[in-house]
Amino acid sequence: MPDASHPVPRQLDVLIVGGGLAGLYAIHRLRKLGLKVRAYEAGSGVGGTWFWNRYPGARCDVESLEYSYSFDAELQQDWKWPERYGTQPEILKYINHVADRFDLRRDVQLDTRITSAAFDGKANEWTVTTDGGEEIRARYCVMAAGNLSTPRVPDFKGLKDFKGKWYHSGLWPHEGVDFSGLKVGVIGTGSSGVQMIPIIAQQARHLTVFQRTANFSLPARNTPMPEEKERKHKAEYPQRRAAAMETPFAIAGHDKPTRSALDVDKAERDASYEAKWQEGGSISYLYAYTDLLVNKASNDTASEFVRNKIRATVKDRKTAELLAPKDHPIGTKRLCLDTDYYETYNRPNVSLVDVRSDAIESITETGLKLGSGAAFDLDAIVFATGFDAMTGALNEIDIRTTDGEALRQHWEGGPLTYLGVMIAGFPNMFVVTGPGSPGVKTQMIASIEQHVDWIADAIDHLHRHQLDRIEPTAKAESEWVEHVNRVADSTLYPLANSWYMGANIPGKPRVFMPYVGGFDRYKKHCDAVAAKGYEGFTLSRHETVAI
Ligand code: NAP
Repeated sequence: MPDASHPVPRQLDVLIVGGGLAGLYAIHRLRKLGLKVRAYEAGSGVGGTWFWNRYPGARCDVESLEYSYSFDAELQQDWKWPERYGTQPEILKYINHVADRFDLRRDVQLDTRITSAAFDGKANEWTVTTDGGEEIRARYCVMAAGNLSTPRVPDFKGLKDFKGKWYHSGLWPHEGVDFSGLKVGVIGTGSSGVQMIPIIAQQARHLTVFQRTANFSLPARNTPMPEEKERKHKAEYPQRRAAAMETPFAIAGHDKPTRSALDVDKAERDASYEAKWQEGGSISYLYAYTDLLVNKASNDTASEFVRNKIRATVKDRKTAELLAPKDHPIGTKRLCLDTDYYETYNRPNVSLVDVRSDAIESITETGLKLGSGAAFDLDAIVFATGFDAMTGALNEIDIRTTDGEALRQHWEGGPLTYLGVMIAGFPNMFVVTGPGSPGVKTQMIASIEQHVDWIADAIDHLHRHQLDRIEPTAKAESEWVEHVNRVADSTLYPLANSWYMGANIPGKPRVFMPYVGGFDRYKKHCDAVAAKGYEGFTLSRHETVAI
């Protein structure tokens, strides 16, 4: 008999972790199968990445007409994107619109963090607990917790003594921050830093940028949405969405390259890089030639072109050389898109400090100190220092199999998955765009839809065959991991110390996590696996024990 201190656990068909773009689409798609679903979201609103990352200048680097859901034809016709690239507030508004339009909110529990999930083999279900002490049971779990959702502030000593204010890009205050008249330090020059630096520079009395590794950045060339472009794109939406499925980045509208960068002479090559530089956007640039991400000599030509642009823009020679990346081929770390990033270093109130040659030693009461003893007085510090990417969100949850093995143990040497969507030994738990899938290397919403559709089809397949359990074999998992590594090793990606490799987190295993064989190849493979009766998975029926 239940009592108030031991309430009956909520019983679900599918528990979803996360109320971002993936969690919301999962609710919509799985509901259509008649399943009882509920998403649990740590934030006080839906939106995931776009709920948390409110730093100045936050904007998507994929064009807004592409970076949007494709599952509903009317939605994509109705929504008006005001600019070429969506700003964070605009994308969050869109996500909230979707939540209302498809009545998704009633199945989202906000302000709730999932803390553990344990599979009970006898009952054939997951027992999941929340930070509020609630217990939920579910036949299936869909982990839609995001790849860049675990913000990381480096473990600098002294941070607690800092008398000013500090912020992380991924945990930005909702009320915004006014840096007017302040001495500000930004640590980190990845996509987040590159977007916020030009805007903070306009407000701050002085901005000091602490750079460890220079990143390549291309001009976004954002504009208000041209009416004709929108009209044409919307008229062609079905064909464009279908065409995106046939590309490596799940983004349509770029002519497929046909030649190696080394097949043409320097003048022709530079003319094509210049055209792409003027056009703006990163996909277009990396798609200039067939081999920019697999042939170092080809890549050198594209890298040097951008380095020369930096040298031509930044007036101080020493600063320009520091900003010109030389330690990795262009595109092997996430390529940044910016508005006036390099120009910002010509402002008299901005300085660049190289913390590669002289590392940050500590945060002090009044600022920060480098190993050499050089000290900087700061009123505010912004950490644009990134995330525990791809594995952080799942490793924060205590996930255990029926025999007690923890996911953290299973992933001790790096993440192991089959297709990036399931894990051997963890039945009925799906991961959306997990490590081993191309998600983070693509137009993320397309990858989310592809995964959620695949997961929904798998669950539907089980039900239609009176089955209720699916898990990958250990063999399929290890062969997939080997394949992911082999593909990565055939490219230039492993040459960069990136978050794709776990390199930004001290002690994290250095394993290349995303699948870089291309979205098109990957989707075909996933479809073939399903068509062959879920090859590499064990599907079964379990007599469930009444609870
Ligand atoms: P990030 O790319 O991981 O960059 C973190 C930066 O902090 C790097 O410059 C890193 O230097 C530096 N850093 C970390 N620890 C440091 C330390 N102890 N001392 C000095 N510097 C340190 O993180 P992010 O910029 O937040 O971007 C993460 C990803 O989110 C992006 O790659 C992208 O996929 C996504 N994102 C997208 C957009 C967009 O769509 N426009 C915007 C923001 C983010 P090292 O390189 O030397 O490690």
